[in-house]
Amino acid sequence: RQRAAAVVARQAAFTRDGRRIRVCGNLGDLEECDAILQNGGEGIGLYRTEFLYMGHSDYPSEAEQFAAYQTIARKLQGNEVVIRTLDIGGDKKLSYLELPREDNPFLGYRAIRIGLNEPELLLTQLQAILRASAFGNVKIMFPMIVTLEELLQAKRLVAEAGRQLRREGAAFNERIPVGIMIETPAAAVMARALAREADFFSIGSNDLIQYVTAADRLNAKVQYLYDPRNLAVLRLIRQVADAAHAAGIPVSVCGEMASDEKLLPLLVGMGIDKFSATPNAIPRLKLAIGRLNAGELRPAAEQILECSLIDEVERGLAALHAQYL
Ligand code: PEP
Ligand code: MG
Repeated sequence: RQRAAAVVARQAAFTRDGRRIRVCGNLGDLEECDAILQNGGEGIGLYRTEFLYMGHSDYPSEAEQFAAYQTIARKLQGNEVVIRTLDIGGDKKLSYLELPREDNPFLGYRAIRIGLNEPELLLTQLQAILRASAFGNVKIMFPMIVTLEELLQAKRLVAEAGRQLRREGAAFNERIPVGIMIETPAAAVMARALAREADFFSIGSNDLIQYVTAADRLNAKVQYLYDPRNLAVLRLIRQVADAAHAAGIPVSVCGEMASDEKLLPLLVGMGIDKFSATPNAIPRLKLAIGRLNAGELRPAAEQILECSLIDEVERGLAALHAQYL
């Protein structure tokens, strides 16, 4: 089985009925890049840039950020690198960024909210990302989007960063794809409107689950509610996938859910095009995709989504696992 995984790791993953499903890796620090490539990742589906900021005693300069993004873009040799803009706040802190103490940090000043409130900060990062886009297949992704207004405002900053680079005569990809994380219930519900302004969606299930179930992802007392099999979560994901496809854009999952082989058949049946997983899960996912039949899984997924209890979902997942994996 290990040898089979090694062979599969080098190939693109197709379901038995010929649907291409991409498997990428999530990157925190630069060292993980090699692990993603060795495991057969077809790109970086989520580059959590906050770790670049957390490793510093002050804001990393545009030049420092550019150096990091360019290194990764080059290493990936044309495979995609989805760079998520700074997602700080919530449980992630920066020693040099004074954030007000909040009673509910996960509902507070975090991620894109900080970037839009302090546009200089986001502009610096966007310029570094844009410059790196001259060296590979770089994409921009905004975290924690709630409203279309936020997305439009963030896109205006991308345009502004581009104008600045043009003035400096720096090369960059003028058509750089700009996508968003779908990780708030509001964004999931408004997916149709957001899909008209986004080049891709990536479902951040870690946050989506906590916001849909109103259960803090770090609080052990409420972990019984924090469940990826929650039917409200699953139905929202299906809606997001349908909205993306209606607008002709791809949809991936980049939260922990994407690394769970047990959930894979259901997510493929719901139309997820791409998975961005922890590096060591990549070979297993690719191997599993090769055993699935996407056409058959569509009605099977529909049936599971009609359930009302997690136990029923669990039985459905077990049946799919037994049938395919
Ligand atoms: C998510 O919320 O699912 C996600 C991928 O982002 P993070 O875990 O970094 O919040
Ligand atoms: Mg998140």
